[in-house]
Amino acid sequence: MNILVINCGSSSLKYQLIDMNGETVLCKGLVERIGIEGSRVKHNTTGKDKVVIEESLANHKDAISLVLDTLVDEEHGAIKSMEEIDAVGHRVVHGGESFSSSVIIDDEVMKVLYECIELAPLHNPPNIMGIEACRELMPSTPMVAVFDTAFHQTMEPDNYIYPLPYEFYEKYRIRRYGFHGTSHKYVSLRAAELLNRDIKDLNIVTCHLGNGSSVCAVEGGKSTDTSMGFTPLEGLAMGTRSGDLDPAIIPYIMDKENITFDEVNELLNKKSGVLGISGISSDFRDLEIAMENGDKRAKLALDVFVNRVKKYVGAYVATMCGIDALVFTAGIGENSSYIRRKICEGLECLNIRIDAELNNIRGEEAQLNRDLTSTAIFVIPTNEELMIARDTLGLVSK
Ligand code: ADP
Repeated sequence: MNILVINCGSSSLKYQLIDMNGETVLCKGLVERIGIEGSRVKHNTTGKDKVVIEESLANHKDAISLVLDTLVDEEHGAIKSMEEIDAVGHRVVHGGESFSSSVIIDDEVMKVLYECIELAPLHNPPNIMGIEACRELMPSTPMVAVFDTAFHQTMEPDNYIYPLPYEFYEKYRIRRYGFHGTSHKYVSLRAAELLNRDIKDLNIVTCHLGNGSSVCAVEGGKSTDTSMGFTPLEGLAMGTRSGDLDPAIIPYIMDKENITFDEVNELLNKKSGVLGISGISSDFRDLEIAMENGDKRAKLALDVFVNRVKKYVGAYVATMCGIDALVFTAGIGENSSYIRRKICEGLECLNIRIDAELNNIRGEEAQLNRDLTSTAIFVIPTNEELMIARDTLGLVSK
């Protein structure tokens, strides 16, 4: 069975076609600049040369149409006809409280997806545009929605309720939702596999460290707490997002700088985090180089980032009353030996002991603790597409 996985952003679209017999990627690609001049698709069929096809794409429907044409293209494609796509799995950022697991998309589900827009006004509309376009172009192919928030719906109220007047939860559904759920779920399941243990018996802390970063407490296979909240702004210091702040800072900045609500929102989301502290870059590669060249603010930015991750790891070990595995994933978690080492340094009291030599890897699955009586430490490259394809397969073959 072949499953097409679609992840639609506002002006971009990532896709993968996966053959679920053996879970092999038949092809994958990225459409860029949808609705902007210079749109193109970068397509890569396994075993063939990569191609870039430039074509004017006014909207997401045009983009999906081009992807489908490319998939069946005689020269660059991976399949002969659209009939060979058995189902489509769509990534959806926010499922609110309505979806605690993936669902088959029908008209009723579409209605609820539209209702979730107000919780994620930037992310959900392009996800929905992708789904609408696919439903139009492939009306008889089953579609599944897989939510970034769903994995965290197992949190208990004491972890998801904010200390605000309770009616804000009742009226506006203001609560912690958490994000990156598909990634936290995938790497925690894989960690259990690597340990050859039943995930039900394990306490795992997963660190998804990328442009956006979050930490998750996975207890017995369920998310019991996570650092992102009502939006992906809460928690760790990130590339450009502030993460946790004293909320009183916000009206104070607005008053002092005489800026509007939209401007402060932009400041917290786009100009803060390690970019804001360093004044150099949101990219950790640039910051590590700048630090090596003696830039003090680059070092400070990395120190703040590391410090936040450590605090969350410590908090989750305390609330789970123990830790069997610490997992690093996403761009920084998979690639930065320096950040992984700094996070683990000083956590020996939690029996976290990273081995310098084993830690000297990049972008591959590995165990980083040499002494097997200590807490397992893993690098596990995330694979949200595969997780989406698995959920899709599970639902459509029922
Ligand atoms: P996204 O949240 O956009 O999916 P990624 O998971 O791809 O982000 O992570 C992107 C980040 O990974 C970049 O900002 C960069 O800082 C970091 N990164 C990638 N490679 C390295 C590396 N070799 N060393 C340090 N950081 C890296």
